[in-house]
Amino acid sequence: MTTLGFDDLKTRLRLPDPGRAMHDVIRELYPICRSITGNGVRQTLKVVGRHVPLEIHEVPSGTRVLDWVVPKEWNIRDAWVKDPSGAKIINFQSSNLHVVGYSVPVRERMPLTELKKHLFSLPDKPDWIAYRNTFYRDDWGFCVSHRQLQSLADGQYEVFIDSAHTDGSLTYGEALIAGRSSREILLCCHVCHPSLANDNLSGISLLALLGRYLVELSPHFSYRLLFLPVTIGAITWLARNESALSKIEHGVVVTLVGDAGGITYKRSRRGDAAIDRAFAHVLKHAGEHQIVDFTPYGYDERQFCSPGFDLPVGCLMRTPHGEFPEYHTSADDLAFVKPEALADSLAKLLAVLDVLENNRSYLSENPKGEPQLGRRGIYRAMAERADGSAREMALLWVLNQSDGKHSLLDIADRSGYPFESIREAASLLQEHKLLRELEEGAS
Ligand code: ZN
Repeated sequence: MTTLGFDDLKTRLRLPDPGRAMHDVIRELYPICRSITGNGVRQTLKVVGRHVPLEIHEVPSGTRVLDWVVPKEWNIRDAWVKDPSGAKIINFQSSNLHVVGYSVPVRERMPLTELKKHLFSLPDKPDWIAYRNTFYRDDWGFCVSHRQLQSLADGQYEVFIDSAHTDGSLTYGEALIAGRSSREILLCCHVCHPSLANDNLSGISLLALLGRYLVELSPHFSYRLLFLPVTIGAITWLARNESALSKIEHGVVVTLVGDAGGITYKRSRRGDAAIDRAFAHVLKHAGEHQIVDFTPYGYDERQFCSPGFDLPVGCLMRTPHGEFPEYHTSADDLAFVKPEALADSLAKLLAVLDVLENNRSYLSENPKGEPQLGRRGIYRAMAERADGSAREMALLWVLNQSDGKHSLLDIADRSGYPFESIREAASLLQEHKLLRELEEGAS
């Protein structure tokens, strides 16, 4: 039996502060200009590859993937706007958010009225820069603070974007950490946003650290970690792996896991998949949280949960997208993501994985009347512990419900005890030969 947990991770990786370690990964990745394709994704995956054994896939532009086509690869070297005096007033080098992602190249002089058609600001957040892109439309633009936009004087401006759309490829990263079973748990995050810390980077850093931990274990499930550009990346991966999807037993998209808000879990399309039940159980015992139903919007759960696949994939977040003002702006920065929040998100996900790893069904070897626990020394062991009566109740629940029809998670839910207590009770009873584990698939 493999147990997963936050404290175990700290010990095995010799990491006293995993939240800080994740924040350090975010800090390293933050300056890179990422998009749905291009060198920013490759650079990002190179960093991730230092933590988990990552296979990098390159899928050529123009490849048909389900109903989509892999777009041209986009790269950018530089971009700026000079005012009538020749001063660089908008500069890609100071923030990659200034350039609308996937902008076509441009070098022109134009009056302010013309330039303004390509400038985007947030009037209600006058000091922040927005994040925008023009993925599937040939256009260009700059994002500026509203305060700056309002300060621009009339005159001729010079605009320069040194970008290129080429027949290259779409890049994604995949790590398969083999377990004892070939059944898989899919964990997915996104790698396509530029300098935004919570949106994308928090998920990348969490999966990087989780992957580093999983390779140290001998888990029951095999774990498939995907680092994908949003939408087109998931569609590409699904198109290339359709024949292997039946191996996926559970899945989670991990995104927005570093802000100070409480945890949100979004259920899979099925709504009652084991992953949905495991999250509901762990979060019920873990304080402030919300669980929301599936909607066909959000992150790549919408691809994994499209009706032709209908995979049991939920989404782990803290504050959902669009529900915090910093979302898709320059204020989603290094200060916005908190090491404690990252650590808490990781701890919750580990608790859920622990449930999935250990959710077995057992058969009582002594189902007629209660077995005499005192004779076996089990009560004496209980009495010596402060939580002895709770432990005794957990034992009685496991003995009573282990008729082959109820898993440990069923028993935990019905009894109101945390999964961990129920699992401990089961392993104690198994030691005393009062329980027998049912073969996988028998329940
Ligand atoms: Zn986003």
